[in-house]
Amino acid sequence: MTAPRPRRTIADIPAYVPGRPPAVVPGLAPYKLSSNENPFSPLPGVVAAATEAAARMNRYPDMGSSDLYAALARRFELSADRFAAATGSVALIFQLLQAYCDPGDEVVHAWRSFEAYPVALAAAGAVGVPVPLTDAEEHDLPAMAQAVTERTKVLLVCTPNNPTGTAVTATALAELLDAVPERVLVVVDEAYVEFVRMDDPVDGPALLKRHDNVVVLRTFSKAYGLAGLRVGFAIAHPEVAAALRAVALPFGVSAVAQAAAVASLAREPDLLTRVATLVEARGAVVGGLRDSGFTVPDAQGNFCWLRLGEHTDAFVAACGEAALSVRPFAGEGVRISIGEPEANQRLVEVAAAFGATG
Ligand SMILES: *Cc1c(COP(=O)(O)O)cnc(C)c1O
Repeated sequence: MTAPRPRRTIADIPAYVPGRPPAVVPGLAPYKLSSNENPFSPLPGVVAAATEAAARMNRYPDMGSSDLYAALARRFELSADRFAAATGSVALIFQLLQAYCDPGDEVVHAWRSFEAYPVALAAAGAVGVPVPLTDAEEHDLPAMAQAVTERTKVLLVCTPNNPTGTAVTATALAELLDAVPERVLVVVDEAYVEFVRMDDPVDGPALLKRHDNVVVLRTFSKAYGLAGLRVGFAIAHPEVAAALRAVALPFGVSAVAQAAAVASLAREPDLLTRVATLVEARGAVVGGLRDSGFTVPDAQGNFCWLRLGEHTDAFVAACGEAALSVRPFAGEGVRISIGEPEANQRLVEVAAAFGATG
């Protein structure tokens, strides 16, 4: 017997590699620094709101996510029809490609960048046009603009870039938007926007005032610490938002996720305090690694990047022996999330002992 065959492009979908849990090492508390998760527990009041919603799990959630859209509309001072919520902003990338790409259409993106992009591209039957990062591990926005052709439907900008941590400037992004035809959707994936501390930072939502082709992606998974609940959102022109909602999985965002997201938005001051703590810890980790001789690109997310090449596996093993999991990219490098204070400190010590040359 042979099973029916899926579409040809399905065989081309690369596997998404999730961050692994840390190894068990007797006497050492294990820490996971491999998925850019938030080490803090949910913000005050969030678990209570989620628990209350969970008590009604015999009912479908509000398919229109109306409380969440209302809260987002207030938070961003934009009309509710500019938002599309989904099961994480990863889902919005899938929806966007499904809504805008015919098979064979091109999607320009930086590489190395978020590894969900090639997965979503292949699932949609679109053709990825990866544009190498610069030597500084940054998006090469002029080269990306050059890579746009008649077939290009979407251009993805990941800022800060996962896994290298670098962010584009507002000026550079404005130049890209002026260079790219308006028929191309420009996605600004701001999953880590809360952690950005740089001159001339991008303000995704502000771009919508001048550009109808911009789609901003945000998530509750990283700074807000709701990775396990799966909720993210797009901010876009109302017609783009409507297209994203049209292809959404019905009732995808659970009532628990909606309630937790609304409660989290109400706690923005607490959020900013926590983010500041993580940003400070990031500075200490990056500083510690540089003191040991490592080259660390500008880290604007809740993680940093070491391009270790052939030493990647050995570094990951050294971390494993210290009950730390980090995220390897075979033969390229390692992405290290900023975690608990003890985890950060141990990581710096392991790296110092490992030595910058391996
Ligand atoms: C983590 C991440 C997301 C968001 O993931 P969800 O949990 O699906 O919201 C989006 N883009 C990038 C670049 C990420 O690293």
